[in-house]
Amino acid sequence: MSSFESIGCHPVINASGKMTALGASAVTETVARSMATAAQDYVNIDQLLRRAGTVIGAATGAEDGVPTTGAASAVVLAVAALIAGEDLTRIEAIPESTGVPNEIVLQKGHAIHFGSAITQLVRLGGGVPIEVGQVNHTLEAHLRGSISERTAGLLFVQSHHTVQKGMQSLAATIEAAHEAGLPVIVDAAAEEDLRRYISAGADLVAYSGGKALGGPTSGFLCGRADLIAAARAQYAGVGRPMKVGKEAIIGLCTALEEYRDGPPDSGRLRDVAQYVVDELQGVRGIRSRVTQDEAGREIWRATVTVDPTEAGFDAVELSRRLREGTPAIHTRDHLANTGSISIDPRPLREGQERIIVERIIDIIEGESGDHS
Ligand SMILES: *Cc1c(COP(=O)(O)O)cnc(C)c1O
Repeated sequence: MSSFESIGCHPVINASGKMTALGASAVTETVARSMATAAQDYVNIDQLLRRAGTVIGAATGAEDGVPTTGAASAVVLAVAALIAGEDLTRIEAIPESTGVPNEIVLQKGHAIHFGSAITQLVRLGGGVPIEVGQVNHTLEAHLRGSISERTAGLLFVQSHHTVQKGMQSLAATIEAAHEAGLPVIVDAAAEEDLRRYISAGADLVAYSGGKALGGPTSGFLCGRADLIAAARAQYAGVGRPMKVGKEAIIGLCTALEEYRDGPPDSGRLRDVAQYVVDELQGVRGIRSRVTQDEAGREIWRATVTVDPTEAGFDAVELSRRLREGTPAIHTRDHLANTGSISIDPRPLREGQERIIVERIIDIIEGESGDHS
């Protein structure tokens, strides 16, 4: 029995992706073991934060880093760092920040909701979000025209949640900011490439530990040494209720070391997706194929299309029945109302693809039983 079942939670097979609502990532044996060892021991936390910063720096190419509870708190610490620096009085006043530059400029198409609102993170860090341009249209002039002596920095969000057209590039954002002597924070929560934004010239970059990286519930900020020192200093202020555990820090460091060779083997993802497609061949009312990630990442999934007249129900209903069985199977279903769901092999544990295929076949056959 899993730890979750022992307190009454239903077992879950996650075929939907790195979803916070399903526990984000399941860590490797090595990461889990490092976390267990850390949880049973003591350490000088200040030293641990600094050593972890060195590990984060090595993994990202940044001068330094600081571990956090997630990318969301990394954004909060980053904003607070730009506003309060290492000044203890200001640190203890955040989110109150009158009298110092506190405006954080971002493009309107980047003012997203990822599970919560990014502008709320800016406010929590003491920032006043200044959304510039229009939802689908931001010009360089909007960015430059909104920078003033009140500006503390610019925020750039790299995510599939943002509006994908009509926005200014990261390069243009960095250029506008640096010309004004201002830093740029990049929220790269779910991105696979841990070096790209630092090498592009971003001053602070926030990542999730539990998304592409596949580590524990955690995150980190990496970037310029002086700004990271200021971000670390926020743990004496607004960062305190976002305290990251010693076991999460060690798990994050272990995951970063394991990640050094890049994201998990896309060949395996393809094989699992192909297995699902092969096994569903000829099943009544079901057509399936291997598809690549919409955002072009090296992620391969099995997309399952349901023909309601043949199957007797539609894709929305298939997704519901999969979710309501035991174990509950969660598929990627944001396109279910257009007739397809997909199986994401990344979070599947060994052999779970077989359980999914069997369940889909059972559901289809059960439906034909009902009608015969
Ligand atoms: C998921 C996400 C976050 C929050 O990351 P956590 O690690 O869950 O705190 C922030 N920004 C974006 C764009 C995200 O996708």
